[in-house]
Amino acid sequence: MVQPLICDFGLARVAEPDQNVHMTQEVVTQYYRAPEILMGARHYTAAVDVWSVGCIFGELLRRRILFQAQSPVQQLLGSPTLEEMRYACEGAKSHMLRRAQKPPSLATLYNLSSQATHEAVHLLCQMLVFDPDKRITVVDALAHPYLDEGRLRYHSCMCTCCYTTSAGMRQYRVDFEPSAAHPFDDLWERKLTSVQQVKEEMHKFIAEQLNTSRVPLCINPQSAAFKSFAR
Ligand SMILES: [Zn+2]
Repeated sequence: MVQPLICDFGLARVAEPDQNVHMTQEVVTQYYRAPEILMGARHYTAAVDVWSVGCIFGELLRRRILFQAQSPVQQLLGSPTLEEMRYACEGAKSHMLRRAQKPPSLATLYNLSSQATHEAVHLLCQMLVFDPDKRITVVDALAHPYLDEGRLRYHSCMCTCCYTTSAGMRQYRVDFEPSAAHPFDDLWERKLTSVQQVKEEMHKFIAEQLNTSRVPLCINPQSAAFKSFAR
């Protein structure tokens, strides 16, 4: 499972295809833990990552942690049905059933930020779905209209897969959201055996990046967004 803090895989674990294998609940930073993990599910899928990204997406809109110190169940989603809790352990189920029933208040998501567009909230609602089987998949989330503009902007000037001809025409690749050709290989990390070696490799990596012609990701102080942010 992908650890949602960028650059930190400390609480990550690999996907487990065997339904019968019991998986640890000590996965994912606590604020971003999906309800099925919090409710003691013995097996979970990459849907927990979609929940985590949804939490971070909500944080970016609200500029505060979305689910802090309280059960996510109490806040946005209302009381889950028994069907939605089918992966939960018995203790968690009976605990929830003893509580007063609460309807979902997804309208709360519209109040996270005055900047949140309908498309942003629509995507967020589909990511923060209690039932992991009904939560939007990564593929469908990437195809959501909310991401179209950012993707186009990325391929317009930041990517290395498209290019601009000498006549100034941008030549775009056919597939804007390609899948990786190979699964992730952690050989690079496995070769690192000391802190000193990590420092040297990171220094080398950064120095190499500085020599590429890739457009760096940076804030454009001339943009309208920067002006409203700096105000
Ligand atoms: Zn591109």
